[in-house]
Amino acid sequence: AVMVARRVRSRRRWGRVVRELKELEEVCSTSVGRLRQVVDAMAVEMHAGLASEGGSKLKMLLTFVDNLPNGSEEGTYYALDLGATNFRVLRVQLGGKRSTVIEHDVDRHPIPQYLMTSRSEELFDFIVSSLLQYIERGEDSELSSSKRREIGFTFSFPVKQTSVSSGILIKWTKEFAIEDMVGRDVSECLQEAMSKRGLNVRVAALINDTVGTLALGHYHDEDTVAAVIIGKGTNACYLEQTDAIIKCQGLLTNSGGMVVNMEWGNFWSSHLPRTSYDIDLDEDSPNPNDQGFEKMISGMYLGEIVRRVILKMSQELDIVGPVSSKLSVPFILRTRLMAAMHEDDTPDLSEVARLLKDILEIPDVPLKVRKLIVKVCDVVTRRAARLAAAGIVGILKKIGRDGSGGITSGRSHSKMRRTVVAIEGSLYTRYSMFREYLNEAITEILGEDISQHVILKVTEDGSGIGPALVAAAHSAPVVDSVQ
Ligand code: BGC
Ligand code: MG
Repeated sequence: AVMVARRVRSRRRWGRVVRELKELEEVCSTSVGRLRQVVDAMAVEMHAGLASEGGSKLKMLLTFVDNLPNGSEEGTYYALDLGATNFRVLRVQLGGKRSTVIEHDVDRHPIPQYLMTSRSEELFDFIVSSLLQYIERGEDSELSSSKRREIGFTFSFPVKQTSVSSGILIKWTKEFAIEDMVGRDVSECLQEAMSKRGLNVRVAALINDTVGTLALGHYHDEDTVAAVIIGKGTNACYLEQTDAIIKCQGLLTNSGGMVVNMEWGNFWSSHLPRTSYDIDLDEDSPNPNDQGFEKMISGMYLGEIVRRVILKMSQELDIVGPVSSKLSVPFILRTRLMAAMHEDDTPDLSEVARLLKDILEIPDVPLKVRKLIVKVCDVVTRRAARLAAAGIVGILKKIGRDGSGGITSGRSHSKMRRTVVAIEGSLYTRYSMFREYLNEAITEILGEDISQHVILKVTEDGSGIGPALVAAAHSAPVVDSVQ
């Protein structure tokens, strides 16, 4: 009788968990109708963010990049890339012809965790030490000589630019939180740290990683109009017409356009399919109410959402042992591992079993539970990828490249212009299910006719090469504008 009672109880629990999964799937659903609402909301918020300072959660930041590289750029530049786990020092040689291979060597330094939350001085000491190491290895005697060199700095956080080479940190995102740095000029911090160590280098460009990606994309293909990053964080930028940037009336550029850094990670709309897991994650985060879109999409958070779902299920099922398992450690389930579980193609999901055992210390998970976990990964990733797709179409809509406007598309869609979006980041480049879901959603939203003119082009290392390109494109002799 005891055995029977236990079996009945466990069947009931299982039923409850299956129902919960079904519910999760429903709440996370992203029908094409809902995605279109997100598209519209994105376009509306873009307008609002351009209309006035603080007009939207989308900051729509000016970059002062009004001149995208076209392949004629020349010279040797140094580049620093700070944005996620690794800090990089690069030297980029531009040959002056697009076909010329851009040469660059890279030095990669994992950023010690404590530096991400310490003081700005320590962070910049680390940055400049890395740069000095590079020089001292003797690979570049020019940099240490008295000749002044130029450097481009990719700093992948929200910055209120004051010029193409300077700007103030608005807030930190991702894993960074160095309070004394908020409100300070990023280039000045770097410049100070460099002069302290006797380095004669000028910061010629301060850019976001999305801007670097757009620059590199445009360098290779002049139909590139926007760039998207989906890695640890997520963001997008695009080329806007200056007269559409209403909050900056009278803004004049040589090209009549300017790249706008949207900071779409902070986008929010009531149409976003939000679950209780998202709400809890946000509340427990160091930046509640911030980066809402990012928290549903980017690599920093997807694994964490899945962890929260599995934790809840495991408590109900009572099968994964004591709750003191590693499963209750925040952020322990990296998105990389989640992707590996999701893409396990062994018939008995042995890779899932191995990861659960090795990483989360949960042995002997029955096959039906492993299947459930794969399903959770699928639901969370599918939602993320489809929302990112809606974001991209939102940008296309704003600039009249979604086929809905009459001007660019003409009478028939065959006249719609080829539109390239440069895309980068590990979720898109290394997580094939994510990539497939994203591509599929773009086609679903736009329809075959239109989407065939929209090309998502993987553009790797824009954050490394891009700052050199921007520095070069903006160091050309200034054309006299007094006419
Ligand atoms: C930052 C953006 C950045 C993106 C991708 C976000 O968290 O706010 O500035 O472009 O991550 O690195
Ligand atoms: Mg990067």
